[in-house]
Amino acid sequence: MTGAGVHVHETAPARVLIGPGARRNVPSEVGRLGAERVFILATNSAARAADECRAELGSRAVGRFDGAVVHTPVHVTEAALDLVLASRADVVVAFGGGSATGLSKALSARTGLPQVVVPTTYAGSEVTPVLGETRDGVKTTRRDPAILPGTVVYDPELTLSMPRGLTLTSALNALAHAVEALWAVDASAYTDALATEAVSSIVQALSRVLDAPPGPAGTTDLAGREQLQAGAWLAGCCLAQTRMGLHHQLAHALGGSFDLPHAELHALLLPHVTAYNLPAAPAARERLARAVGGDPTEVLATLAARHDGARRLRDLDVPRDRLRAVAERVAAAPYPNPAPVDVDSVTGLLERTW
Ligand code: NAD
Repeated sequence: MTGAGVHVHETAPARVLIGPGARRNVPSEVGRLGAERVFILATNSAARAADECRAELGSRAVGRFDGAVVHTPVHVTEAALDLVLASRADVVVAFGGGSATGLSKALSARTGLPQVVVPTTYAGSEVTPVLGETRDGVKTTRRDPAILPGTVVYDPELTLSMPRGLTLTSALNALAHAVEALWAVDASAYTDALATEAVSSIVQALSRVLDAPPGPAGTTDLAGREQLQAGAWLAGCCLAQTRMGLHHQLAHALGGSFDLPHAELHALLLPHVTAYNLPAAPAARERLARAVGGDPTEVLATLAARHDGARRLRDLDVPRDRLRAVAERVAAAPYPNPAPVDVDSVTGLLERTW
């Protein structure tokens, strides 16, 4: 038991590779773990990288599953688990966004297999010891150091195929992890440093990447994309190290009630929750203003407004008359948050986001 005001800082060991072409190190990383039988997971968007890896592994590649979907449904995990067990794999290698990472964690939690994760979005799940799984539409989340992937390989070349809208919303999803870490109840000097660096990297690199002239495979600013990926890595570490507040609670409540797209929902919520919380979080406001080089809410709103897709809750077909019920659920068991979380204020916030 620690006394009030005493911070406990604990980081889990993980090996992280980052840089253009880093994915080609997957076979040697697998060898480093002493593994000889590799099971590959991929989402469609990462099928080419997975094919390439399978070719390089040759006979060490003993199985493949391409069916990861969002929110890690247990029936999908069970289908993949049958294949993993039949293959007698001794390591799982996952290529894809948070959905592929979620499946990798779910399989590792059931088998104890080590994981090598190669992320293709900015979701950050690859550096957290957290697994959310869905059974019969109900999502439960658990935290266990054993769930954390031991090796993460960030290759910015794999983000070249991201459509512009995904680049923007996924990066704002990452920003949300860092922003909430700044006002978290358990923020520390360590998480403040991670979060401010994550915010400034993402904000700088995101505008640059969005402004880059489109090339044959999306935008061509690879250095900007590497900076974005590095920022998303740090933001993921913020998510792992701090308790998230109102922003994440609203994203869970709305996403769960209306089955909304994960990154897009985070992107449209962030400027509104920031405007709501900053008056009650002066230290976070000051750090954030320095990191973004201006008024935080304005900078975030300007970035979010660059999205060509849904920018308001109404664009995602959320019924306006259900907003109060969401606010009631959130206010009944609020996550720790700097600004008060009561039904009227949260309904007002949701109305503005609608
Ligand atoms: P995702 O993995 O579902 O990917 C979103 C879409 O983008 C998919 O259609 C995918 O095929 C496509 N895509 C991915 N990478 C691409 C690329 N490089 N080029 C082109 N298309 C690409 O979504 P996500 O936002 O990465 O992850 C969301 C999931 O991760 C949710 O289930 C969420 O709950 C989970 N998550 C978990 C944690 C955690 O710590 N446990 C953290 C963050 C997110």
